[in-house]
Amino acid sequence: QENLFSALRAAFPADLDACAVEATAPDGCPLRYTWRDLEQTSARIANLLAALNLPPGSRVVVQVEKSVEAMLLYLATLRAGHVFVPLNTAYQSAEIADFIGDADPAVVVCSPGNFGWVSTIAFIRGVRHVFTLGADHKGSLLERAAHHGDAHPPAVRRAHDLAAILYTSGTTGRSKGAMLTHGNLLSNAQVLRDYWDWQAGDVLLHALPTFHVHGLFVAIHGALMNASKMIWLASFEPRAVLAAMPRATVFMGVPTLYVRLLAEPGLDRQAVRNMRLFISGSAPLLLETFNAWQQRTGHTILERYGMSETLMLSSNPCGADARHAGQSERRGATVGFPLPGVGLRVADAADKPLPVGATGGIQVRGPNVFPGYWRMPEKTAEEFTPDGWFRTGDLGQIDARGYLSLVGRSRDLIISGGLNVYPAEIEGHINGLPGVAESALVGVAHPDFGEVGVAVVVPRPGAQLDGEAICATLKAQLANFKIPKRCFVVAELPRNAMGKVQKSLLRAQYQDLFA
Ligand code: ATP
Ligand code: MG
Repeated sequence: QENLFSALRAAFPADLDACAVEATAPDGCPLRYTWRDLEQTSARIANLLAALNLPPGSRVVVQVEKSVEAMLLYLATLRAGHVFVPLNTAYQSAEIADFIGDADPAVVVCSPGNFGWVSTIAFIRGVRHVFTLGADHKGSLLERAAHHGDAHPPAVRRAHDLAAILYTSGTTGRSKGAMLTHGNLLSNAQVLRDYWDWQAGDVLLHALPTFHVHGLFVAIHGALMNASKMIWLASFEPRAVLAAMPRATVFMGVPTLYVRLLAEPGLDRQAVRNMRLFISGSAPLLLETFNAWQQRTGHTILERYGMSETLMLSSNPCGADARHAGQSERRGATVGFPLPGVGLRVADAADKPLPVGATGGIQVRGPNVFPGYWRMPEKTAEEFTPDGWFRTGDLGQIDARGYLSLVGRSRDLIISGGLNVYPAEIEGHINGLPGVAESALVGVAHPDFGEVGVAVVVPRPGAQLDGEAICATLKAQLANFKIPKRCFVVAELPRNAMGKVQKSLLRAQYQDLFA
């Protein structure tokens, strides 16, 4: 039996009446879930799914507000032997129609308020079961599940069977369904439990959305595998996070959450006095944020790197890393060392591994790497090398001490007059200039150079910036081919729900600049 649910269930504490999750109802009432509640409610939902008599591996598409019950629906889907397909709550009807068409689910679960249009889309595509689940416990899913028993033997699943399909964030183009197996998810959860040194008594403060790897797998599996309590916040609200922090020991965030917390005067050493670990990922954490956090709180954020297709790949050390000569330092602007069991190499365009210090495409393999994109065999074949390594699409380099740093995505690489310009390098220089909060460098077509860099810069509150002056300053620091041809000052960068800068939108905006 290799059902991921069985492994998660086996990690529950002996005392099932202990508190597993503390949450807050939409009306502000405190909610408390015991481990027994997780066990029984997930069994009832699994029994409801089982009663539908679906073939094993049927897809359950879920677009609901974040709630503990939504997490229980995830566990129940695993338990019943089906495939969980969470969708970003921001998606509207055209997108939902595409995803339902692509995932070809047997069951769709949506917010009660969306039932009208979601069920219409689903029924047209042959879906026979549409349930609703609200953040306030309302909806047909729980009503129906209440009529089912609270015991359910997990369906037998093998390591290579699908557990979930996660649609990628769509940062570089159309999002793709990454198929993840029970074995992918379990191996990564076990590695992270050990690498991040989860300890008895750890309490996870959960403030991320649950439709992506970060909030769904890294956070939830982390807590469940360690029998740790979760303090569950339905959305990220900096004050609420600060209020809960004294009762927590582990926090996971995307970089924008750290930036927003730093804007709170209440963030100080006293507020984080019981914290053990702050983890950041999903998008680049600016060195400045890393440093500011250290100064304000005395804590060094641990940055890690991963993606939908591979789960977590690399991490800065939690304690000393035995495989890297006792290296224990968390270094800003790096994503640390490849995790145990993860093969990671930097390769050139011909897939030949490059020496230390060289920049190239990051390729990976290991038990965490997905078997392929859902119903996209050609795309899958394209992204694996002949010798079985997955091309992540990220560019990076490994230094002499073994730390990996990312320098951008291969799609964002700018080739100007035949020379490579790595956006992260230029952005790092721009961010270091006085008055700059953050920046993005994108490539746009140019008649002479093929492509040139255009910088988009956000000033700090109150600062006045001049784009031309920024270009002039960079000229004294960097080779000419790296200098952005134009620099625009804007109020903010376009970001998606995971805090990722949407460079494709910026490229589209400036594509005709030199036409
Ligand atoms: P799409 O594949 O649809 O273009 P996406 O790659 O943004 O979207 P995800 O799988 O959610 O979708 O994100 C994975 C990507 O996030 C990685 O490939 C990497 O570029 C980026 N990423 C993750 N962690 C970090 C990090 N610590 N620093 C910088 N980038 C990161
Ligand atoms: Mg991607």
